[in-house]
Amino acid sequence: MTSAFAPSEQSLVASPQELPAVDVAIVGAGIVGLSLACALRNSGLAIALIEAIPYARENTKGQAYALHQVSRRFFEGIGVWDKLMPHVQPFELVQLSDGEYPLQVYFHPEDLGTEAVGYVGEHAVIAETLQGILQSARNVIFYCPWRVVTNEVKGDRAELTLISADPAQPKVAHLGARLVVAADGGRSPLRQQMGIESKGWKYRQSCVVATLNVAHPQPVIAYERFWPTGPMGVLPLVGNRYRVVWTLPHEQAEAVAALDDRAFVAKLRPYLDPRMAEITAVGDRCIFPTQLMQVTSYVGDRFVVIGDAAHRCHPVGGQGLNLGLRDAWALAQEILTTPRERLGDRSSLMQFHRQRWWQNALTLGFTDLLNRLFSNAWWPLVAVRHCILWLLRTVSPLKRLVLRFMTGLLLPLPSDRQFSKAR
Ligand SMILES: Cc1cc2nc3c(=O)[nH]c(=O)nc-3n(C[C@H](O)[C@H](O)[C@H](O)COP(=O)(O)OP(=O)(O)OC[C@H]3O[C@@H](n4cnc5c(N)ncnc54)[C@H](O)[C@@H]3O)c2cc1C
Repeated sequence: MTSAFAPSEQSLVASPQELPAVDVAIVGAGIVGLSLACALRNSGLAIALIEAIPYARENTKGQAYALHQVSRRFFEGIGVWDKLMPHVQPFELVQLSDGEYPLQVYFHPEDLGTEAVGYVGEHAVIAETLQGILQSARNVIFYCPWRVVTNEVKGDRAELTLISADPAQPKVAHLGARLVVAADGGRSPLRQQMGIESKGWKYRQSCVVATLNVAHPQPVIAYERFWPTGPMGVLPLVGNRYRVVWTLPHEQAEAVAALDDRAFVAKLRPYLDPRMAEITAVGDRCIFPTQLMQVTSYVGDRFVVIGDAAHRCHPVGGQGLNLGLRDAWALAQEILTTPRERLGDRSSLMQFHRQRWWQNALTLGFTDLLNRLFSNAWWPLVAVRHCILWLLRTVSPLKRLVLRFMTGLLLPLPSDRQFSKAR
């Protein structure tokens, strides 16, 4: 099977109405969908990866993510880390603070026994690296720009209907697969169409996201700063830049997002580490609503949901993508150990559902607790917070335990033995 990764080859692959049937169809080439495809490359299974947004535009998302050590292990297992590492920013210190309270907690690599606490990767860089790796995968066909509109189960096959997302060439095609994986993001039309329910709530907060350029090399620190209006994450990027994720009540977030650059910096500065003194430029600002959501079941007939399609959480602690990568890891392991003829059987997918549902529920619950505990000025809770910070600062084993939990290392990890071919 040929790889159809370069956009110029798409029309060749996409012209037939009946596309070649595959073992696994992955819908959505965000970081989670791309990572699953990378884990399944060279596996002998036929894989289709379908993405609605054209290649170039997908890469322009200005988003950046804190990657935990668990995500690094997954990327190492599937032979991606070596190519990614030169382009991500390791950070050796995480500073946790509560408003103006002078007692701060620092997390170090020694607390995890690793060389860095974590890494920050930009969406475009991670996506390009994964796409580059997939170009040489003989068993992965990339359909882009194609939008999946329906998924119907017909006996031992799922049949996807795709429409070309290129308005100049409107086309419809069908693609048969033993298993369909929805990695199509938080709105996941496919999840809804398959009748998979979700539970959760919306927060009364939105995140204002911006990239800051600073004049001089700054300390490589990742900050989690809690304010009564909501948490603020400040992540170091490669090249004297920081990514700020500032959570505020909706109206305040909208007002801050609408400020001009000068006024925005003036408003932001009191909330930043004073060492980040000279901010020379502010990149495009975006605003995201925040919510918590998890599906009631990760599996349906010949169907699985992963990544943001399965769960969304508050950005505090930078968990969302890390959870999605762990889904991809566990699902790849499940797929690679299931005989081809049983791929897509609900019974063989139930183990994946059981494992991922409770692990993700724990982390989602923790982000919710953190946000509720810290995003207010009610004095009894303020007192509890200060006690917690004092305990974290003075009782090292407790600090290590909390860090291991927040970075996913306390929970059982999937195996990576099956990935030897992908490497
Ligand atoms: C402000 C903010 C900060 C964050 N910071 C962090 C962080 O520091 N660390 C972290 O781990 N997480 C973080 N997250 C969470 C993270 O952004 C998400 O968890 C992650 O991007 C989800 O990736 P995904 O691949 O599941 O979904 P997406 O990135 O949404 O990708 C879904 C893809 O599916 C495609 N698609 C959709 N429908 C169709 C269709 N019908 N047919 C074909 N293709 C389709 C879309 O075009 C898209 O490319 C943050 C989130 C926010 C809002």
